[in-house]
Amino acid sequence: MDSVAAIRRQVRDHHKAGTDGIKVMATGGFMSHATAPWNAQFTTEELRVLIDDAHRLGKHVAAHAHGTEGIRRLVDAGIDYITHVTFVGPDGLTQFDPELADQIAEKGIFVDGCAPGSYPPVPNETFTPRAADLYRHGARIVTGHDIGAVCPPSAYTFGLKQLEASGLPRAEVLIAATSRGAGAVGLAGVTGVLAAGYAADLLVVNGDPLASLDALDDVVEVVIEGRTFEREWLPRFDPAVRFSPPSAEVGLLARRDPRAALMERRQRAAAHPYPRT
Ligand SMILES: [Zn+2]
Repeated sequence: MDSVAAIRRQVRDHHKAGTDGIKVMATGGFMSHATAPWNAQFTTEELRVLIDDAHRLGKHVAAHAHGTEGIRRLVDAGIDYITHVTFVGPDGLTQFDPELADQIAEKGIFVDGCAPGSYPPVPNETFTPRAADLYRHGARIVTGHDIGAVCPPSAYTFGLKQLEASGLPRAEVLIAATSRGAGAVGLAGVTGVLAAGYAADLLVVNGDPLASLDALDDVVEVVIEGRTFEREWLPRFDPAVRFSPPSAEVGLLARRDPRAALMERRQRAAAHPYPRT
């Protein structure tokens, strides 16, 4: 999309196709070809056009964003929901921005640090979600929106436990996964709460999740709008094999790890000076 007219067209085409919401890739990703996570992919004005038109059509807007600049533009443009929120700087490393976190909290933006493989945060790691830091700044934490890219869907409950391990109270994790999560996708008052008038969307488990989130792994029944959902039984997620960290030995043209490629380009350039004139 290379113009505001093209952006409006995309939003309207999705509306005509019957989508419930709009999602935008506001920065590059760690797994997308020919992108870099620290690069913002739209101007603030372009994002504003997208968000305003989606809101006009009654849709919430979510965004994928790793890079701090892209996160800042989304906040300025009026985004509803940001996933990843890793605060990746131009050097490819995560550096939390407390002032930006305060703005996210003040504006009531939903944030989803959704990469369960990388809790608790690892120092100098490139894509550690900052959910616990954002929580301490008062942001509205939700769970799970972008899951599936790196980890299988069966990793979802592991992600909830990692959120607790990173410092969120257990009750806060459960709210993030239910009533607040519903609000984040425009379904406040519709689902996510066990009360008369809400959709009968239920997860029945053995045990009390408020006593231990492990109870969420012992599922008895899933009910969607009052009907039992016949589940496909997925293999239990194994954290030990969840994820291989980016290799430091990738070549210059490697596409799987943009940060390693950036570092290698800089090292090569530093080692091979050339005359400026
Ligand atoms: Zn994403």
